[in-house]
Amino acid sequence: MSSILIKNGTLATATGTCLADVYIVDEKVNTIGQNLQMQADLVIDATGKIVFPGGIDPHVHLDMPFMGTYSSDNYETGTRAALHGGTTTVIDFVLQTQGKSLYSALEEWRKRSDGNALGDYAFHMAVTDFNDQTKAEIKDMIVKEGISSFKTFMAYKGALMIDDRQMIGLMNEVKAQGGIVTVHATNGDMIDFLVAKHRSEGKLSPLYHYLSQPEITESEASARFADMAFYTGVTPYIVHMTCEGALNAIRNATFRNQKVFVETCMQYLILDASLYENDFEGAKWVMSPPLREKKDQEALWAGLNQGLVQVVGTDHCPFMWDQKKMGEKDFSKIPNGHPAVEHRMELLFSEGVKKNKISLNKFVEVSSTNAAKIFGMFPRKGTIAVGSDADIVIFDPEEKHTLSASTHHMNCDYSGYEGWEVTGKCKTVILRGQVAIDNGSVKVNKGYGSFIKRGESSLVI
Ligand SMILES: [Zn+2]
Repeated sequence: MSSILIKNGTLATATGTCLADVYIVDEKVNTIGQNLQMQADLVIDATGKIVFPGGIDPHVHLDMPFMGTYSSDNYETGTRAALHGGTTTVIDFVLQTQGKSLYSALEEWRKRSDGNALGDYAFHMAVTDFNDQTKAEIKDMIVKEGISSFKTFMAYKGALMIDDRQMIGLMNEVKAQGGIVTVHATNGDMIDFLVAKHRSEGKLSPLYHYLSQPEITESEASARFADMAFYTGVTPYIVHMTCEGALNAIRNATFRNQKVFVETCMQYLILDASLYENDFEGAKWVMSPPLREKKDQEALWAGLNQGLVQVVGTDHCPFMWDQKKMGEKDFSKIPNGHPAVEHRMELLFSEGVKKNKISLNKFVEVSSTNAAKIFGMFPRKGTIAVGSDADIVIFDPEEKHTLSASTHHMNCDYSGYEGWEVTGKCKTVILRGQVAIDNGSVKVNKGYGSFIKRGESSLVI
C-alpha cells in the first residue's frame, strides 16, 4: 500500500471549488476533507496551489502512419509531454484501412502503443469502410475492447472518407450497440474541387490550404451530420470544430432538443488564419480544418460558456520541419497537424481563466470532466472524488513561463507557440496514485500508462 496526502490546496472540480485535503491510497482517491490527519508516505503542501483533475485530451494522433512516415511523437514521447502539461489520459485514433477489418487496424495500433506509454490512453475506432463485415465488429469493439466511439471522416476521399449511405448504416448500428459516432465534419467534395482549382492555377503556398477549406465546407457538413444523427437517434460528437457557421448549425439543432456534442481545440480559440500569410512558415499550422478568423474565436469562447461546446482537445499530430517540407512546393503535400498536447491545459488556464473568459470550474469541465462523461470513463476519470482514479494536477496559478521548442517535451523541432507567455504551471502531476511529474522532472517509466477500457456513452452529461 502506498499513500499520498495533499494538504491545504484549493480543490477545483467541474461543479465547485473548496479548500480541502485529498488523501490517496494506492491508485484511488480515498478521502476528501478539511485538516485530514492521516499518516502518508508522501505529504504534499499545496498552499496557494489549485488541485484539479488530470486533463483528458480526447483527440491525439501518436505514431500515426502518414505518407510513408509517422507523426513524430510516439506513445512514449507523446504521453510524457502530455503529463508535463497536466494531461493524464489521451484518446488516440485507430484508423481502419479501407478493405480491411477493424480488428486488423486495432492489432496494428496495439503493436505501437502497448507497453510504450507513460500516461493512460484509450482508443477511438475510425471507420473508413462500413460494410457487413465491419458492422459485425462494432459490438465486440464496444463490449470486449472498451472502444465505444467511432470516428468518421466526411473528407479525404479515397482514403478515409465514407459517404452518407455508409454514415447512416454506421449510425444505426452504433446506436443499437450503445456507442457514439464522432465526425470530422467537412464537405470533402467541395475541398477536393478547391484544392484542384488552386493547384491548376499555380497557387501552391500554405495560404491556399486555408483558402481551400472555407467556413461553409464545415458548417454545411456539421448541419448534415446533425440531421443524419437526429434521424437515427445516435449520440453525435463533432471533433475539432473551428467556426461560427458550424456552431450555429449545432445551435439550430438544439431547438428540436437534439444534443450534439462539440469539441474545439486550443489552437482555434487563440490562433488565427493570419499565420498563413508568411510564405512557407505557415506550414507550421497546416491542419484540417485550418485556423479561422478572430470572430470565430469569439464564437467558440462564447460556445463554451453557452454549453454548446463541451470539450477542448488539441488534435495533436506533430511533424518535424523536414516532414513539413514534403509540401514546400505544394500545400496539398504538407502533412496535416501540429504539436499541441503539452500546452492545452496551461494555455486554456492562462488565456481562459486568467483573462476572465471562462471560470475555473468551466476550465475543469471542458479540459477533463466532460470528455470522461461523453466517452464513458466517468467517474473513474475526469473528477476528484472518493473512489476515482487519483489523477491529479497541483497547479501554481501565478507562475509565469514562456513556451518554446527549446524547452517543450514534445518530439517536434518547432513550436506553434514560440515565445508565448503563459501564466500558470503544472507543478506536480499524479497519475493513478503515482507522482508522474514533479517540478519538471518525470517520475514514471515507459509502460506505466494503462489502456483504459471505456463504457457506454450517454446523450446527457
Ligand atoms: Zn485528428
